[in-house]
Amino acid sequence: MEQNGHSIALNLSAIRSQLPDGVRLVAVSKFHPIPSLQAAYDAGQRLFGENRPQEFSAKVPQMPADTEWHFIGHLQTNKLKLVLPYASLVQSVDSLHLLEAIDRWGRDNQRVIDVLLELHLGAEQTKHGLTEEEILQIVLGEAISAWTSVRFKGLMGMATNTDNEARIREDFSRISHLFHHIRTQLEAIPSPEGKERAACWTELSIGMSGDWRIALEYGATLIRVGTAIFGEREY
Ligand SMILES: *Cc1c(COP(=O)(O)O)cnc(C)c1O
Repeated sequence: MEQNGHSIALNLSAIRSQLPDGVRLVAVSKFHPIPSLQAAYDAGQRLFGENRPQEFSAKVPQMPADTEWHFIGHLQTNKLKLVLPYASLVQSVDSLHLLEAIDRWGRDNQRVIDVLLELHLGAEQTKHGLTEEEILQIVLGEAISAWTSVRFKGLMGMATNTDNEARIREDFSRISHLFHHIRTQLEAIPSPEGKERAACWTELSIGMSGDWRIALEYGATLIRVGTAIFGEREY
């Protein structure tokens, strides 16, 4: 059920009070109506995440101008113009094809787009995501200089949808290792360009309503929480 404005504010403050410095909360507002987003905004929340291009582009003009938006869903290349002008971060780059299209869009529009690469974790619930090998190839491979209009900010992942905490920890551990491995490798590149890339590589987006507390133990810098703020979604 949709939470009322008062419970949205309480839910937000309960979560925020448990977040260490340097961790940002993305309020995942997909399927929730504007009054719920506005209640979160009025309670001080500025960062929101949406996962469907049409819904995203419809909501942006209905919220105050200082609202910050992340895109967190599967993005088809024919929908880029609905998302890229408004998203401060695309968290869900899940294929090389999409990355190439974003880079091209950035070049054509004189923009540099901040992105996270989505690591395919777990098994059943999603087909989307890049493998570790693909991610290493993209951010550390020889073709790295060819990406002129995307900036690699880090990794995003969704743990296996399970009650088995050990399995969730395995997933978070894997993505956290990859994140730190890449930072170390970037720092070892001697050129100023390497330093710049390492300095940009700062975001690890893991943790949702059911597992964000665990994600903090694995170094999350962004947690993406929907249900625990707004209530159950009605599809
Ligand atoms: C929906 C969604 C979330 C939030 O899920 P909750 O369980 O409602 O917190 C987080 N990340 C992504 C990518 C999502 O699609």
